[in-house]
Amino acid sequence: MTNIDPTILLVDDSVVNLEILKDTLSRYKTIIATNGDEAMEIAFSRNKPDLILLDIVMPGMDGYEVCKILKSNEISKDIPIIFITGQTDSESILKGFEAGAIDYITKPFNILELKARVKTQLTIKMARDQNQRLIHKIRTVNKKLTDSIQYAQKIQSASLPQPEFLERVMPEHFIMLKPRDIVSGDFYWVEDLEDKLIIVAADCTRHGVPGAFMSMFGVAYLHEIVGKNKTTQPAEIINELRRIVIDSLKQDEESEIKDGMDISVLSIHKNSDVLEFAGAFNNLLILRNNEMQIIQADHMPVSIGEIDKPYTNHTLNYQSGDCLYLYSDGYPSQFGGPNDKKLMQKGFRNLLLENHKYPMPDQLSIYKKFFDMWKGINDQVDDVLVMGIRL
Ligand SMILES: [Mg+2]
Repeated sequence: MTNIDPTILLVDDSVVNLEILKDTLSRYKTIIATNGDEAMEIAFSRNKPDLILLDIVMPGMDGYEVCKILKSNEISKDIPIIFITGQTDSESILKGFEAGAIDYITKPFNILELKARVKTQLTIKMARDQNQRLIHKIRTVNKKLTDSIQYAQKIQSASLPQPEFLERVMPEHFIMLKPRDIVSGDFYWVEDLEDKLIIVAADCTRHGVPGAFMSMFGVAYLHEIVGKNKTTQPAEIINELRRIVIDSLKQDEESEIKDGMDISVLSIHKNSDVLEFAGAFNNLLILRNNEMQIIQADHMPVSIGEIDKPYTNHTLNYQSGDCLYLYSDGYPSQFGGPNDKKLMQKGFRNLLLENHKYPMPDQLSIYKKFFDMWKGINDQVDDVLVMGIRL
């Protein structure tokens, strides 16, 4: 709340002077003190003034001393002090400013000038108080929001497959998930079926809270489609996912929310050397003997889009030792490097080509380090997800 009725403390040992000042400043609420001790008592109280007009020559403590004490005390240091005194020599004036005063008025004073100076100082003080209140408000709101998002992050990370499960079903793998904000729009999902291992990497539209909301939908729908309905063909999984996203978010050509996700779905057959892949914008990379094979995803989002053909299901043969990579666009889209440009798909693929022979945990630290180095002082532009699996 803005204090519309500022209070001025008048400090002078002369009652006549106090009366004149009171009269001059009659449009403000004034409090009077006839010596330094009284002045300090008021300045340290709960109802401290917004401005102090302080005489210098007083019995007991002089104005300089009072000013210094008030300026060194946490409670009173922000109250502006104007000296109002008969001392007109420059040495005294200088001493006044050195003691911490904001202005110096000599007696006898010009009434209009005094009023103008008081008004200026009060305007500044009120604006500063208002700023302080706003800063406090912003900090409080910010803390509430951050606390709430941090709790949401716990729920989100509980929805992801647990590390022990992943170690068991994919003995050689790594996952680099680096949300741009606290919660993430990128997520991964793994289901271990009797004869197949289904691995999903997804990038929901947007990041932060809206992205995270969508990711929770994604996790729930995948449970439904794969876990409950036992759909295991990657293209069918994405077809079904798109149908549910459009349906449950009531998307049509006119709807405002056309969000969804880009996704890559991999199915590894356990009892043969076959793997299946389908993707919406996100490709699969296979590295074998220093060569990279790119399995192209379809250019159709998992949401309402211009084309709604079924997704392409790719069937391939794999060899033991093949390295498979699923990833969102966050890593290649990161700005940085020597020319402050995006790493791009080419830079990202070269990085994998150079390092795919290392053990998976080593690759993870290489990619993490490289990302931080590339990003440098830039902000992270998007959520980052890279999954590597060695078969
Ligand atoms: Mg992304």
